Amino acid sequence: MRLLITILIGGLLCSSCGQNENTIVWPNGAKSAISLTYDDGLSSHVNTVAPLLNKYGFKATFYPTASSPSLSEENEKWRQLTLNGHELGNHTVYHPCRKSESGMDWVKDEYDLDNYTIEQIAEEIRSANAILSEMDGSHLRTFAYPCSHSFAGGESYVDIVASIFPSARVSSEVQTELVKLPDLDLHKIPSWAPHNHEADQLISYIDKIIEHKTFSTLTFHGIGAEHMKVSQEAHEAMIRYLDSNRDKIWVGTVKENVEYLRSKRE
Ligand SMILES: [Zn+2]
Repeated sequence: MRLLITILIGGLLCSSCGQNENTIVWPNGAKSAISLTYDDGLSSHVNTVAPLLNKYGFKATFYPTASSPSLSEENEKWRQLTLNGHELGNHTVYHPCRKSESGMDWVKDEYDLDNYTIEQIAEEIRSANAILSEMDGSHLRTFAYPCSHSFAGGESYVDIVASIFPSARVSSEVQTELVKLPDLDLHKIPSWAPHNHEADQLISYIDKIIEHKTFSTLTFHGIGAEHMKVSQEAHEAMIRYLDSNRDKIWVGTVKENVEYLRSKRE
């Protein structure tokens, strides 16, 4: 009898096992969330990614550099993408990065963040916003640090970003530990940037987010083409996986997910 009571009490207590007070219930009753993000304004974003996302009804955040050739050459497709509910985030105009960091030899001297001033990066960010606002009519969007570098002329420009945007994303080619929701810095949202990874690796990252009941983001560049490529097949398999796990993981733009997170934190 005592054993039975112990089991029953144990069972009752365990109805909350695996949950903690930091868990948020997202739309669809999901206990975790993800934002798919696509950087640099590439042609594959409007020609491959957007049609696929629209087919599944998923919304994503695109961070085009405002000077990207596709943005002007395929302008109508980018406008259509915003009409379909996707977010156009700010990724500056010229994608300045710190040339002094390793592997950054490709950065042109005129776009070397070490040679920028804080005023200059602020001005460039505002110019990018003006270009994007002209396309989507929105005055509120999120930001992604080019190359995840947040210093201009040796000074942090995080405060400038925080004064303009509700949130900002960094990213890394190396998968970092997932951050618990209460510890998440909304002006430095972490992200994993896959490069030539296969479907099972993308899916295992999603499984990790589900398991940790948290919110994270993925950073893509070219899909089936262009730089830091992920194949169309791997990308589509990931979308199908998200589709079949809608009750476990919510997919939304960074702007939407951050707004939702803030509303639950208050
Ligand atoms: Zn970029």
